[in-house]
Amino acid sequence: MAEVTVQAPAKINLHLGVGGVRPDGFHPLATAYQAISLSSRVTARDASTWSLTCTGRDGVDVAGVPLDDSNLALRAGRLLATHAGVDRAAALHLDKGIPVAGGLAGGSADAAATLVACNELWDLKLSRETLAELAAELGSDVPFGLYGGSASGHGRGEEVEPLTDAGRYQWVVLTFDFGVSTPAAYAEFDVLHAGSEVPEPEIPPALIKALADGSVDGLAAALGNDLQPATLRLRPDLAVPLTAGREASALAALVSGSGPTCLFLVRDAEHGAQVAAALADFGHARLASGPVPGAEVL
Ligand code: ATP
Repeated sequence: MAEVTVQAPAKINLHLGVGGVRPDGFHPLATAYQAISLSSRVTARDASTWSLTCTGRDGVDVAGVPLDDSNLALRAGRLLATHAGVDRAAALHLDKGIPVAGGLAGGSADAAATLVACNELWDLKLSRETLAELAAELGSDVPFGLYGGSASGHGRGEEVEPLTDAGRYQWVVLTFDFGVSTPAAYAEFDVLHAGSEVPEPEIPPALIKALADGSVDGLAAALGNDLQPATLRLRPDLAVPLTAGREASALAALVSGSGPTCLFLVRDAEHGAQVAAALADFGHARLASGPVPGAEVL
């Protein structure tokens, strides 16, 4: 095959449970992920040397995407070649529909898509499980990009298990032209919890039940993010769109991961358009639905 295109989804955290910092600086996580319909498409073309180009679609600004060896997609392609022991390269093109540095794991989606694309391009026939092991070396959100759907994540988030999900949910995803540093959000979490015992993180049983039942109201009541107070201390202004979304009748509003992206659960596309209109002054509001599959060949 001379060229393969693979699509991989953005992730949101339906619940992000964060435990107390360990001596090595690691925070144990218990998170529920959902893959949503914002996606990245990676095209891998057979080539004698590695190269990378990048475009954005649906209003995604790709100015902040590194095109050098630090790019997660290039790292994924090289890691796969090394692991498989093949002396191969590829020309990669990223077409990003996932806003950059928004806590939506866009770089991880690119990496997951590249693993699947090069596995196909080079006819390596590696299993999803093997690709997931390589994915975990690249970053804690990369394995989920392979699996998609709704899933639990433990450890640093890389221990992914599917969750039964009978529902289809509509979201308004509000992104901003500023970022929140993930390490800064965790440092603020540590400040907020200094001197107190932080319980082991867990995914609330009510959330697991809501997904199994496909209950949008149950999900609205069970969404949560232990990092949100820390992120709101770094960016108190995020409280304004969260309140505006609730006042515009969103079923629930929360910060996604370490932010700044905010998520609003809505009933359907029409309700989503109404909530998105109320949020338009704050940032870029997009409609998305989930769960959607993980990285798949187009
Ligand atoms: P994080 O995993 O840090 O929470 P994020 O989901 O907020 O990431 P990404 O879109 O993955 O956001 O970008 C985070 C940073 O990763 C970017 O600022 C960029 O420097 C770097 N990066 C590396 N590879 C990529 C890639 N393929 N696409 C976008 N950013 C990348």
